[in-house]
Amino acid sequence: MVEYNAPKRDYDFLLNEVLNVIPTIQKLGFSEFDKEFLSMLTEGWGEHVKEVWHPINQLGDREGLEFNNGEITMPKEFKDAYRESVDAGWLSTSCKPEHGGMGVPILFQSVIWAEFGTSANMALSVLPALTIGVYDILAEHGEQELVNYFAKNLASGEWAGTMCLTEPHAGTDLGIISTKAVPQDDGTYLVTGTKIFITYGEHDLTENIVHLVLAKTPNSPEGTKGISLFLVPKFMPSEWKSEGLAGMTDELNSEHNGVTCSGSEEKMGVHASPTCVMNFDQSVGWRVGDLYSGMPLMFEMMNRERLATGMMGIGLAEIAYQNALAWAKERRQGRDLKGVQEPNELADNILVHPDVRRMLLVAKVNNEGCRALAAWTGLLLDQRRSDDKEEAEMANSLVALFTPIVKAHFTDLGCETVSTCMQVMGGAGYCTEYGVEQFYRDVRISKIWEGTNGIQALDLAGRKVTEKLGKNLRYILWPLTDFINENKSNPQMTEFNKPLHQGVRGLQQLTLQMIAEGQSNPHFLAAGATDYCRYFGNVLLAYMWARIAKVCLDKQDDQYYVAKLASARFFFKRIFPETLGLAAKIQAGHKTLMDYPLEMM
Ligand SMILES: Cc1cc2nc3c(=O)[nH]c(=O)nc-3n(C[C@H](O)[C@H](O)[C@H](O)COP(=O)(O)OP(=O)(O)OC[C@H]3O[C@@H](n4cnc5c(N)ncnc54)[C@H](O)[C@@H]3O)c2cc1C
Repeated sequence: MVEYNAPKRDYDFLLNEVLNVIPTIQKLGFSEFDKEFLSMLTEGWGEHVKEVWHPINQLGDREGLEFNNGEITMPKEFKDAYRESVDAGWLSTSCKPEHGGMGVPILFQSVIWAEFGTSANMALSVLPALTIGVYDILAEHGEQELVNYFAKNLASGEWAGTMCLTEPHAGTDLGIISTKAVPQDDGTYLVTGTKIFITYGEHDLTENIVHLVLAKTPNSPEGTKGISLFLVPKFMPSEWKSEGLAGMTDELNSEHNGVTCSGSEEKMGVHASPTCVMNFDQSVGWRVGDLYSGMPLMFEMMNRERLATGMMGIGLAEIAYQNALAWAKERRQGRDLKGVQEPNELADNILVHPDVRRMLLVAKVNNEGCRALAAWTGLLLDQRRSDDKEEAEMANSLVALFTPIVKAHFTDLGCETVSTCMQVMGGAGYCTEYGVEQFYRDVRISKIWEGTNGIQALDLAGRKVTEKLGKNLRYILWPLTDFINENKSNPQMTEFNKPLHQGVRGLQQLTLQMIAEGQSNPHFLAAGATDYCRYFGNVLLAYMWARIAKVCLDKQDDQYYVAKLASARFFFKRIFPETLGLAAKIQAGHKTLMDYPLEMM
């Protein structure tokens, strides 16, 4: 029996005691949003996914979906669960109230919602995550007429959204896409091309599907500079005859808009999440945003989705940990090396073994550290909209810097953690009944989609740290340095502060070296990017753990805080030292890679 309990207490602790988010959020205009409401939302969503999404997760994996004659049929249980969530209003928490949403901070939807949803049912959770991404782009950049017609049904989840970037010959390299959009006299475009790997490109959970498609207009500039973004619905309004959308009802044409699905991928995991080949054949679409602004707009959506993908790493690592721990508590094998613990039993519980504890604690501490950094990132997403220019600039810079780290480091750790949890369970971990085997397959895609982790690392090292003349980097070095200085004379903090200080100094040196050597030889920077991203991720987690430790030092009469302090110690002694090895690998440079005889590989 696979179990799941949403880590509500952890969010209460992080948001209120470590990050103290409520005053910041209230200043941003959410004046009614208080601690009690946040706690109620967190609890309510945790219960909802536990009762409605989690029980059908294994069924979705087992039964998957049915592709037949261009149509995809989802398991009935998924339809019922999706409908229940739409009716309860759980899919539109961050959408604007004028579109029927709850209008709560993005922090809730992008972090708490995303983690709990993924833990309970990753295959189902990606659909609303994509839909809200489409809604956000539309609400922010769409013409009023488009917003009026599409936003409400997207916000509620009555209609679903997708993002269509990838083509058979163009994955990472989107500059070479060949989908065309030809302008029409009425202001619409006719979109033609084939997109592959489109998540929820086709399904029967909603009446309509709204695709955001990257395409090129005739005579557009070469490469990514010539790409624009188009909204292409599966079905058009039934009364539409090219005179605009004003006054159209939600009644849809029964003929599709030239949008067909010609295939659905068989794949390793997320079996109940359709992955479609989508064909657009003279499909009517509308441009969203300016001509040739397709890439920046899609990046805006992808950045949201990248954080959501990072949360998939935590979400699956969390449920894997919970089940591995529950299993370990029951399992007896061998004896404690320091002496028999339970002589009346055939064997001691496996938690007496240091190696089993090592595995479980690496999982627990990584999950909790990532959750803390995610919570901070979620708050920054809201702060980007602050009227205070300085605050908005700081938040924009940090979100830009953190996004590739959250995406790549959290999903790398997520995959490692789920694997480790399987190891805790021995042979049972490998068997379907216990659930972790499914999580292992499901979590793996998170390192690939939304831009591979290798590309995230290049984005961080090659762009984010240097752009705006290093301003993004300065915005993180300032609070880090302040924290280190503030705690220098506190002996209780030395065990956390000292390694943090060393890590930050190392980060500064490595960054300078990457930039300096990267200028004369880009292979140097590219060769070290993945290790640099992990190093940076470790420093950010170290900062979160040091802040957590500081909060907990004076509260040692409650086991929750005792455990948090122990987790912080574990992080600094047994996880953070990996930065030393990472630094050595970064400094080794590119030669051992690029000088290797290619013909012998
Ligand atoms: C289940 C699933 C769902 C998906 N959902 C969607 C979706 O909804 N919408 C959508 O548009 N796409 C979707 N994708 C596509 C996904 O985003 C791409 O698969 C991913 O971005 C990688 O592209 P690719 O597969 O073409 O790999 P490639 O681009 O061919 O990359 C192959 C390898 O080369 C590396 N590489 C490539 N270029 C460089 C470079 N310049 N420098 C260094 N390394 C490089 C990559 O990191 C990777 O390791 C989905 C894919 C899957 C499998």
